Amino acid sequence: MTHQTTLSQELSRPLLAGAFLSDIDRDRLLAALPRAEGPELAALARAADAIRRARLGNAASLCAIISAKSGRCGENCAFCAQSGHHHTSAPEYPFLAPERIVAAAKAMHDAGVARFGIVASGKALPQAELEHAATAIAGITACGMAADASFGVLPDDALARLKSAGLAAYHHNLETSRAFYPRICTTRSFEDNLAVLRTCKRLGIPICSGGLFGMGESWADRADLAQTLLEAGAMSIPINFLSPIPGTPLGGRPPLTPDEATRIVILLRFLLPDRHLRICGGRPTVYGATAPLAPMTAGADGLMVGDYLTTSGGTLEADKAGLAKLGFSL
Ligand code: SF4
Repeated sequence: MTHQTTLSQELSRPLLAGAFLSDIDRDRLLAALPRAEGPELAALARAADAIRRARLGNAASLCAIISAKSGRCGENCAFCAQSGHHHTSAPEYPFLAPERIVAAAKAMHDAGVARFGIVASGKALPQAELEHAATAIAGITACGMAADASFGVLPDDALARLKSAGLAAYHHNLETSRAFYPRICTTRSFEDNLAVLRTCKRLGIPICSGGLFGMGESWADRADLAQTLLEAGAMSIPINFLSPIPGTPLGGRPPLTPDEATRIVILLRFLLPDRHLRICGGRPTVYGATAPLAPMTAGADGLMVGDYLTTSGGTLEADKAGLAKLGFSL
């Protein structure tokens, strides 16, 4: 038995049996994974894929989003094309009419996508637009889809209003670790973001929260983010890879290599064995056209399809055919 097979088998054994990684095994993973390549990386990816099958089964969850309000954001997230602090060519428009949002959701439903998220730029959706959002959520729910929303740091009463309209899950990324977050955003705090997740938990709203990788964070930051998401009760974890956008402070960073991105997916599967890992923005930037579904063989079980917020996605039909070939059910 090779060393790489021994390590991946040893680390995955308790996870396959329904447990979580011990602190000692977490340290072993963090020592090996950043340097793993070739057969060792492939063995760890196979182990992560086996954990996914054992803990979550073979169903792949597809979701799509609409950018319902774009640009003019007062926050200064260093990666974001929509921040008013940066000079980019991102479009600017106010909240779309609910009928337009529901029509976009229905088109995705007809194409076999079960979840649809409404995303708005800004620190928090203002009260005046909240009722439009609630109408759209009710309309999407009536189509037989799960309606999700991402409207920033909303207060309790606004989240409760969306829940009463049929909200299936609230999306709010923590983006990165508590320690690294001030390097990414200074107009709001990590604690502000965490408070949103706490409110959702208290109100019984399922939490979708993850991060963006490739911003210069360390492996310790990546592991700390996973631990915080675990403790916050996030059930769906979006994994985004940086698409460097000219005009933003991170516009000059090189994209992650495919191997580095795959190591991140493996890390999250080992640290979050029972959570849904959803590959979202940056997939085409990192994996290109040659291996767009590679992260789905390294522990992920969900995909965002169609276009992302400010970048283009892949082809839905190609993704569906590829997932079926990998043994996923849709
Ligand atoms: S990520 Fe969201 S909050 Fe941050 S600048 Fe972009 S739109 Fe604003």
